[in-house]
Amino acid sequence: MSDCIFCKIAAKEIPSSAVYEDENMLCFKDINPAAPVHLLLIPKVHFDSLAHAEAGHETLLGKMMLKVPQIAREAGLSNGFKTLINTGKGGGQEVFHLHIHIMGTPA
Ligand code: AMP
Ligand code: ZN
Repeated sequence: MSDCIFCKIAAKEIPSSAVYEDENMLCFKDINPAAPVHLLLIPKVHFDSLAHAEAGHETLLGKMMLKVPQIAREAGLSNGFKTLINTGKGGGQEVFHLHIHIMGTPA
């Protein structure tokens, strides 16, 4: 997906404020934060949305979900946090590369 902004962020073609990275995923600060801490966790592999996830993404999605609380804790969200996945135009999705919003206020 050469025109996908999050693929370009994952490939370091566009800079981001990354807070976590491994071979499968990247987490970076949302450029237009809606909370004191607002992070986006993306898979490095492109798929448009949760509605486009396939059986082959099962392990990846599980790893991402398990990583969310660790990233939140390291961002200071020890009191809790919100997660959000917008799916499709009707779901408010603007960037069509799956991403998990992680939002909250440090304790
Ligand atoms: P969504 O509506 O779920 O598709 O959310 C897309 C999010 O991506 C919005 O919160 C944007 O502020 C954020 N965003 C768009 N471009 C960038 C970027 N270059 N770096 C960081 N966040 C971005
Ligand atoms: Zn992409």
